[in-house]
Amino acid sequence: MSDTRAVVVALIYLLSATLFVFGLKRLARVRTARQGNAISAVAMLLAVVGTLIELGIVQDYRWILAGLVAGSLVGAVIAVRVPMTSMPEMVAILNGFGGAASALVAISIYWVDVVEPGKPGTLASILGGSQAVTAFLSVLIGGVTFSGSLVAYAKLNGSLPGKPILLPGRHALNVALLLLSVALGLVFAYGVGDPARGATVVWALLAASLVLGVLLVIPIGGADMPVVVSLLNSYSGLAACATGFVIGNNLLIISGSMVGAAGIILTRIMCDAMNRSLPSVVLGGFGGDSSSGAAAGSQEYASTRSAGPEETAMVLEAARKVVVVPGYGLAVAQAQHAVRELGDLLKKRGVEVLYAIHPVAGRMPGHMNVLLAEADIPYELLWEMEKINPEFRDTDAVIVLGANDVVNPAAMTKKDSPIFGMPILEVHHAKTVFVVKRSLAAGYAGIKNELFEQPNTMMVFGDAKKVLQELIGELKQLGG
Ligand code: NDP
Repeated sequence: MSDTRAVVVALIYLLSATLFVFGLKRLARVRTARQGNAISAVAMLLAVVGTLIELGIVQDYRWILAGLVAGSLVGAVIAVRVPMTSMPEMVAILNGFGGAASALVAISIYWVDVVEPGKPGTLASILGGSQAVTAFLSVLIGGVTFSGSLVAYAKLNGSLPGKPILLPGRHALNVALLLLSVALGLVFAYGVGDPARGATVVWALLAASLVLGVLLVIPIGGADMPVVVSLLNSYSGLAACATGFVIGNNLLIISGSMVGAAGIILTRIMCDAMNRSLPSVVLGGFGGDSSSGAAAGSQEYASTRSAGPEETAMVLEAARKVVVVPGYGLAVAQAQHAVRELGDLLKKRGVEVLYAIHPVAGRMPGHMNVLLAEADIPYELLWEMEKINPEFRDTDAVIVLGANDVVNPAAMTKKDSPIFGMPILEVHHAKTVFVVKRSLAAGYAGIKNELFEQPNTMMVFGDAKKVLQELIGELKQLGG
């Protein structure tokens, strides 16, 4: 590469890395998240341009162009069509593709530099020791990320049961597979002088890592899947970082380590929010079947009380302070604009209205923030769990909209409950609690909700949007 080209590439990479940092920073706040996304997309474009300039040796760009066009088209169609509620699945599958890409790049380097030229000598003697080891790590982590993400995707969209699948002796099996992968990796890097045999070892390593990825994720229950997806996100960053070392690309090292670090921080935050330790999630065995909302049904409830929109509207109208608790069902019903209208009407009548946000409400981190921001509900009215919990004792009415697990007192009282220990929104302390949902069916964790039987709880059955529209109608009739 000529000096000028090297300088241009270095500057493009520097600018791209800087934009990635700024983009990531702005992604941390709802208000600036869109901008952060756009900045990061520009950084990615620069990264592609820089790489193409760096690879000046490429004679024919047609394959690259075809890949770019096909990838962009598929990505754009998926991004436009995916409903907000399926976002975790999409994140899971994209993590998987990231891992696969890293593994494939490392294998292709081996092919181009060693197998095709038929060079004798070990990978370490040809590429250098550190590159050989990182090539092995790229294949191992990339393979685990790919197959693990496919399983997470299948569990999230219901094609695999959300229940933990516990194979006998699974821990021993996993340790044995990991040791086998490391042994194959070391043979791949240092032990094989013959390219044809080296190729066999690399395929065996890939196969072992793919099986390991599946075995690591199948024992994890549906309710812990968000933590796993975020952990796999971190792995995909680590795989990319290792690949950056293999091909000597600083930008890939920087961006891969940012993804790795951000993923592990998010994993930690989610573990805290669900009161889980990372080892307990990774070792698996917890969680109900997320796809079977009928796991707890009406037959499990001895007594519940229900109210209609008219009665609900009268209590809300007379209240001094109302807290709205959004959950997954609100996203399903796409009722965010109706929530805003209800809030505005109550405010007009002098009622203080706050919105309580649980960190794992919905199906992805920040889901409720994004949903309510779409309806322009002022950010300062969204109160996080720790801040709002002491307020419930002083709240006249809570309206729970399509939330279930995040308000289930069993998390505080029932030691044998699968969600025991998960911090919840303590709505049961309020004077009156209205729970708006279509039936007594369970939420994501597939368990009974003790809140529904409490004497201060009223079930308001129906689709969240329809119920909200009826409430708005009633309030208007009451002169709101
Ligand atoms: P839940 O999944 O516990 O409950 C949602 C409730 O919404 C259901 O009980 C359902 O009841 C109701 N519902 C569905 N559609 C409608 C509708 N159209 N109108 C009214 N209600 C509706 O949701 P939560 O938000 O309380 O809890 C989130 C759960 O998801 C937690 O267990 C969390 O661990 C898990 N999770 C979280 C992720 C995250 O990152 N935030 C990612 C993946 C999982 P019914 O059918 O009777 O209407």
